[in-house]
Amino acid sequence: MISVEQARQTVLAQAAPLPPRELPLADTLGLVLAQNIASDVDSPPHDKSLVDGFALRFADLDQGCGELKIIEEVMAGDVPCRSLQTGQSTRIMTGAPIPPGADTVVMVERATVVEDPPYGRVSIEDRALVAGRNIMRRAASLSRGQQVLTAGRRIRAAEIGLLAEVGRAQVQVVPRPRVAILSTGNELVPADHTPAAGQIRNSNGPMLAAQVTEAGGESLLLGIARDEWDSLRQAIAEGLNANVLILSGGVSAGVLDLVPRALNELGVHQLFHKVNLKPGKPTWFGSREDLEQKTLVFGLPGNPVSSFVCFELFVRPAIKRLAGHSAAPAPLTQSQLLTDFRQRGDRPVYHPAELDLSVSPTTVAPVVWQGSADLLGLTRANALAYFPAGDRTYHAGETIDVWQI
Ligand code: AMP
Ligand code: MG
Repeated sequence: MISVEQARQTVLAQAAPLPPRELPLADTLGLVLAQNIASDVDSPPHDKSLVDGFALRFADLDQGCGELKIIEEVMAGDVPCRSLQTGQSTRIMTGAPIPPGADTVVMVERATVVEDPPYGRVSIEDRALVAGRNIMRRAASLSRGQQVLTAGRRIRAAEIGLLAEVGRAQVQVVPRPRVAILSTGNELVPADHTPAAGQIRNSNGPMLAAQVTEAGGESLLLGIARDEWDSLRQAIAEGLNANVLILSGGVSAGVLDLVPRALNELGVHQLFHKVNLKPGKPTWFGSREDLEQKTLVFGLPGNPVSSFVCFELFVRPAIKRLAGHSAAPAPLTQSQLLTDFRQRGDRPVYHPAELDLSVSPTTVAPVVWQGSADLLGLTRANALAYFPAGDRTYHAGETIDVWQI
């Protein structure tokens, strides 16, 4: 049986970034940029005023004081028509272009306007004023032709703003991986059904879809397949149109665990089956490739917490890699155990736990948890506490590895 790390490496070796696509800027948040971006403008596009005030020639003032004739008013969006001569000033708003001849702007709070049509005269007292104050020079932040972003950058809100500033309404990005999710099991009914005798609700489908969204994928719920060849084959064939197909259930050793064989018959090449961990041992992974499309296929164990944990360990890194993110390191931290923990068995355990990052050193407490079917226990956790294989009691105060979820 392979280790968690070997399984992760096997998965990552199959996951290359998807081919870039051009998307509208508004749809690119969180995606990875697939092109270098050069600006098509200077920013600012002109020498501009940083305040509402008066543009003037610094030499016209005596230690920041003087009275000048106002010859024009320039709002943001306007272009000044008149050059300043000695003794003149232009009333100017924040962002508006500085008129030719002016070299300084005094803020309106340091000026008093006196009646004298058409624009008046302005009396200025600003003893701390220095030449050039309150002007941002053309291209001070970036110049036309300058490369402002490089391929590989994750697009956040700030990058969206910058891309808009430099005129990129369409952007080449690595698209979101499309991830199909298929729940298998004769016992399953959808969440809006009342289970009859022997039935349970499909919790994995909605949960995995949420995990896919969190990981930056686009989820496609295929519903529930029965543990029958036809039902499975038909749903799997549909799922193979996606970049990733996640199945839950049907990969253990039960009589109706048909998933590995159904996948095999549909041309999915098995890369591993069973991983040395708890919960999640029956995990299956393979891939199918033809000329147009490669699909990574995960068969996760049906128990909800097993599905959840195996998604975090194996599927999330695959989605990240397909979406063009650089190989993210495992979200491992070290933390101090708050309570004793008895570990038994020959498999490493990922136990739902409460991690407290607000204290130093950070602490972690395994939550009360009834095992891989106990979703309520999982909701009390924000991390998985890792305990290596072997029988041993871990004592409060010991440092252990913790996987953030
Ligand atoms: P399996 O892996 O198919 O043997 O399923 C293991 C356990 O997980 C069984 O108790 C199933 O009823 C349960 N299970 C399987 N699929 C789901 C699902 N989609 N939602 C909730 N429980 C499930
Ligand atoms: Mg089953």
